[in-house]
Amino acid sequence: MKTEYACCVYLGDELARYAFGNNHPFGPLRHSAFSNALYQKNLDQHVDILRPVAATQEILELFHEHEYIEKVKDLSESGGGYLDQGDTPAFSGMYDAALTVAGTVCDAIDRLVDNEYTKAFVPIAGLHHARRHTAAGFCVINDCGIAIEYLRHKHHINRIAYIDIDAHHGDGVFYSFENDPDLIFVDFHEDGRFLYPGTGNITETGKGGAKGTKLNFPMPPGAGNELFMQAWPRAEEFIRTGKPEFVLIQCGADSICGDPITHMAYTECVHKHVVTSVCRIANEFCGGRVVALGGGGYNLDNIAKTWTTVVSAMIEVDRI
Ligand SMILES: [Zn+2]
Repeated sequence: MKTEYACCVYLGDELARYAFGNNHPFGPLRHSAFSNALYQKNLDQHVDILRPVAATQEILELFHEHEYIEKVKDLSESGGGYLDQGDTPAFSGMYDAALTVAGTVCDAIDRLVDNEYTKAFVPIAGLHHARRHTAAGFCVINDCGIAIEYLRHKHHINRIAYIDIDAHHGDGVFYSFENDPDLIFVDFHEDGRFLYPGTGNITETGKGGAKGTKLNFPMPPGAGNELFMQAWPRAEEFIRTGKPEFVLIQCGADSICGDPITHMAYTECVHKHVVTSVCRIANEFCGGRVVALGGGGYNLDNIAKTWTTVVSAMIEVDRI
């Protein structure tokens, strides 16, 4: 079904349930901070608002090991303990919440491949730290990794660009596809000497046959728009040279000035610039197909202004 709008945004309580409680930075108010701002700015009049969709266990296991997903299921029922060394607490209902995050991202992919939309935004997604066998850094699953495997297995789309401007390095994506020459990977993050997870050195460009297919840009703490804009053209050219067939962007708002757990100083202009630039590359090479994932962000005002800026940029780019 072809609709009036080129862009869709997913909202719903089922997505908001992916959260670790009111006293945790990754709390349940992140979703409403974004959705309230979206309606306040009347963006709902320029996009289709869609309901979240639950995945099956099989879809999670396109990326994750079966034993790990069984552990998530067990701890989801008891709702106690940790899924990793102490960063990612288990919470009751987290298995269903994880199914919803993954299923919603895969639903966005299906709709873009079916030409129903060209752009999609999923606010509670972009859980880029989880590995195939374990949780990490507030990420029970890795929907970015699942999306990459889903594009390949379900839609036979191999050449995928993954761009990540969250303050933290997308280690769960990077190391899972380090040997994969068809994953074009670009990640700007706060230098690992100062911030979790400590990885993403500039010398890490992929391994074996994939060497040179990844770019890591560690940025100094306190880096602002000017430093970012100086570095971005190289990334833009790199993505264009990669001729992607599909684009995923992780738009973490924790790289914006004032985040309580990072030390970066961008404004949302960086997110606008990156999304516009990447959408234009997608328009050139892959029918404009871009799925944007919210990612991190622990200052609710920053979430509101940054993710609505991302959605605005996606709307604008198809108007020009
Ligand atoms: Zn982050």
